[in-house]
Amino acid sequence: MTDFVWSIDDAGSGGEVPIQATRRFARFLESRDLRATWLVVPKPNGQPLSAEWLAVLREARDNGHDLQLHGLTHEDCFEFGPPVWPATSINPAFESTFAQRRNELISRYTVANLRARIEEGQEIFRRELEIEPVLFRAPCGAISQAMFNALAQVGIRYHSCQYISGTGYEHLTHNSGDLTPVWTDAIPHSPFHWYADVVEAPILGEYTWRGAGTRSAEFVELARKDVTRIVTESQVAVILMHTHGIADDFDHACRVVDGVLEMVAGLGDHRFNTLDKLIASGALDVAATGTGPDSLLI
Ligand SMILES: [Zn+2]
Repeated sequence: MTDFVWSIDDAGSGGEVPIQATRRFARFLESRDLRATWLVVPKPNGQPLSAEWLAVLREARDNGHDLQLHGLTHEDCFEFGPPVWPATSINPAFESTFAQRRNELISRYTVANLRARIEEGQEIFRRELEIEPVLFRAPCGAISQAMFNALAQVGIRYHSCQYISGTGYEHLTHNSGDLTPVWTDAIPHSPFHWYADVVEAPILGEYTWRGAGTRSAEFVELARKDVTRIVTESQVAVILMHTHGIADDFDHACRVVDGVLEMVAGLGDHRFNTLDKLIASGALDVAATGTGPDSLLI
């Protein structure tokens, strides 16, 4: 049996458009008896969470959604480590930007620096949301060994940012346009123990990045193919969305959810869940059978 998770990034960040999309999409999920794990930026661009965001987030929490940490400020895509695929497939300029700022950025990645950023986020969650975060997702998947050590030191034992497939970004104009599913073999396809014994819950893929709605039926089909395969390989499958991707084409995001729901229902006895519940029940630990590769250079 596989537990599927809808994980939605960048809550807390941006103005009226993502705020309204978040509220509307939370209601849509609830209409399907679903809840999401929302990855919240606790101090977006260095500013406190707005009153409007806090209202939406508290409402989501009270309706049974899961809120977890997504960096601290998310001011750039290098907050916790150097840029990696598939962020570099979304924005190839990340590589050259990082190269230009290399000395400044590399000096960020110490356990003490990154621990202070995570602790500040934890304090904001406790104070503003009355939540003790149990999982972290680094902005843009940019990670470092120091980040994992910092997470372990503050007692956060779960992380989620490694992708099984980046096919969901092939529609972008600088990419191939080919939506045939391609899965990486660089990481295990089920949750795994990684640096500092943090459990990594890999991301299956994303089907709602900006522009995906113009090829909606193909993206729904891609999602259906991915979920059909993952139930044969993992007990936990994390699907990624972004608040701005949902806002970009709200109806497409809803079609992806309904397409996946219908497919999963036909595949046997599977469930939809949130990461906090899978962590609390021990299911994420049970699913984490393997060990990740020693692939991080710093
Ligand atoms: Zn993000």
